[in-house]
Formats: sequence, structure tokens, C-alpha cells
Amino acid sequence: MHRYIFALGSVLCLFLLLVQATQSNPPQAIDPPYNAFEALQEHDLFHDLPSHQKFPPDIRVWPQGIVPDVCHHFLKDGRITPNATNMEVRDVYYTDCDAPWTICRYKDSLISWNKAMVILGKIPVGMRQHVAHVILAPESYAKKNRGIVAATMEASTAFLSAMDIGVAVHEFNHILDAVIGSHQPQSKLISESPEWNWYYQRDSKVPTSYAASSLSHKGSKLVEEFADSGRWAMSNMARARSLSRNKSSSTISRDGNGSGSEGSPFFLQNRTMAANQLAVYSANWTECRNQIGGYRLLLEGRIFPPGGRCTGKTPTSDAVNATTGERVHSMVGAGKHKLRSVGVPEIIPADWAMNIRFPPYNASI
Ligand SMILES: [Zn+2]
Repeated sequence: MHRYIFALGSVLCLFLLLVQATQSNPPQAIDPPYNAFEALQEHDLFHDLPSHQKFPPDIRVWPQGIVPDVCHHFLKDGRITPNATNMEVRDVYYTDCDAPWTICRYKDSLISWNKAMVILGKIPVGMRQHVAHVILAPESYAKKNRGIVAATMEASTAFLSAMDIGVAVHEFNHILDAVIGSHQPQSKLISESPEWNWYYQRDSKVPTSYAASSLSHKGSKLVEEFADSGRWAMSNMARARSLSRNKSSSTISRDGNGSGSEGSPFFLQNRTMAANQLAVYSANWTECRNQIGGYRLLLEGRIFPPGGRCTGKTPTSDAVNATTGERVHSMVGAGKHKLRSVGVPEIIPADWAMNIRFPPYNASI
């Protein structure tokens, strides 16, 4: 009996020590964190990702008074109910998919149509195809929720006061986390999968202070850490592809190395630099290299599909009356009927994936 008590006591002590060790070592960001040079990263990402906009833009405007169901209810949170009759809806076609993307913009949004269409057109198609709607919030909503930049749920993202490409990649990573995760055999978030945890556990640090702070309280999950790892993995992939695309150019790298064909020393040198270019944002990036590399291993082939065209599309939600929210029989929009008519397979997320409300992106952290 005493032996049992002793053994139990030992196990309890070990457990308490482990708990204490976990609590005294909250995850730390690399130093400096990637977000220390966020403006530079934004600039590079914008220039490294090619545009898929059509010129002139190919846009179909929805009839006034009809809006997608998700856009109608997305910003209604009980306190604030923006009037959906002040919303304009456009289906926007890009060069890399026969199906369009639906953007819902409140008329007084701080974000312009042009900005939204440009940013969305730079998002690689294998990421963009999982986004059902982009919503541009009204100015009053942005002011009442000062500090919040963006929010994601139902495979859709609302941008409040700005739509920067790095923030868009972060938010769309939440959509990939849920939608692609729901199609995995275990049907759970990618960030909750054993594979992602394996990469996370192999690093001593996380990429950003936001990822670190989101993990510092009990029971926290890896959703923000995954989204920020993916944001910086996107920088890594975009730079590598930009260098590869422009390999015959004399301005292919920030260090000004010369041109060269594939296989030449110059080209190989630049490829190596591409792999290491995250050092531009943080010299200690290797302390989270497994998270960056793991994201690329899991998702790069999907984000940049062979052939460069969409392989599916999360459909636009049903058309509803902007005033009443009631369904209307309308053939507008990139709904299921539209996807069928252009031969683009429908991406159908599991119900649980559509019901997750990810933490809003806050500019102050
Ligand atoms: Zn987030």
C-alpha cells in the first residue's frame, strides 16, 4: 500500500513538474520575429506574387437588392447590424479559373473595389479557390471595431479598414486550415492534426509575437500559429517562384546577382538564396524552420496546382433579398449552378468547418 502511495506521489510530482515546466515556458517568437519587418514583407509579397487580373477586368454586377446569404448575415453580431441594402456585389473573373469570385462591398467601405480585386487576384489560385466570399465592411463597422482588421468564418473573410496581402494570406490560411482539413481522413483542422503538431514540436520558437501570444494561455490551439507560419511560408514560396520566373532577368535578386539559366551556378545560387530569403526578415528564422517547411510540404502543391488553374471552387452562397434575408430564385452569382455550368468542381467543406469563427485579426498585436 505504501509503495502504491509512494508511486502515486511520484507520478503526481512528475505531473506537477511537467505542468510547471509547461507554464513557465510559454512559446516564444523568434528574435526578431518576422513581424518586426512586416512592411518589408508586405512589399516583397505583393511584388513576388503575380497578378491574375483580367484587363479590362471581367466583372458581373449583381442586381441591386440581391446579395449572397453569407454576405447578408456575416457582420451582424447582435450589436451592429449593417444594412445589406447598402451593399454592392460583384462576381470577378480571373485568368486562372472559369468560375468567378464574389466580392460584397458596402458602399462606404474604406477599402476600394480596385484594391480588393488586385489583392484577391494576387492570391495563388490553389489558396483563392477555397475562399467563398470576400466582404468589405462599412466604415461605421470598421470604426466601431477599431483595431480589428479582418475576420474569417464560413470560408469567407471580412476586411474592415484595410486589405493588405499578408493579412489576406493569414486569413485565407484559416480557410485552408478548415476546408482542406475537413477533407482529410480524420476531418479536423490541419492545425490540430498530428502532422502539424509534429512540425510544431520540432521547433524551439514560433514565427511571430502574435503566434506566441495566442499560445500563451491554457488550452490554446495552434490556429494562429498555423496561419502565421503559412503567411511566412508564402513569402518563402513567392520569392522562390519569383526568382525562378525571372531567372533571365538581371535583377533577379535583392543582392543583385546576375542572370543565368536553370542549372547554371548563378541560378543555383539564387535558388539557395530563395530557400534562405526568410533571413532577410529574421536572421534566426531557422528556429521555426520546421513550421515553415512543414507548411510547404503539406500545402505548396495545392496552393500552386500543376497547370496553374483552379481545381475547384467553394461556391458563393445562395442569393437572398438584401432587406429580408429571404432566399430569392436568382441565377446570379458563382453558386453551385454556375460552377456546374463552367465545369469547375464544387468544394464542399464539412459543416463543422463552416461553423468555426476564427479569432479576428487585431492590428494592435
Ligand atoms: Zn487569425
